[in-house]
Amino acid sequence: MVAKCANPECNREFRELSKGRLFLLPPVHAFPESMGKVVRMIDHCYWLCPDCSQKYTATRHGNKVVVAAAKPKTTAAVA
Ligand SMILES: [Zn+2]
Repeated sequence: MVAKCANPECNREFRELSKGRLFLLPPVHAFPESMGKVVRMIDHCYWLCPDCSQKYTATRHGNKVVVAAAKPKTTAAVA
């Protein structure tokens, strides 16, 4: 369940859905014990606050969700 910013160095409290950015990152492999259970997607929601969402992005690596610096947008050369 989302409660705080996914950035461990920030930890801003999640208050408004309209602010920041939500990432839905369900596990890649379903765990055997979860078979037959309803997958609660909300458990795999991660939120970045407005500040962090501009600098960081959340991605899943195996069983972990990692917050990493977003790649700067390369501005295409205007010919
Ligand atoms: Zn944050």
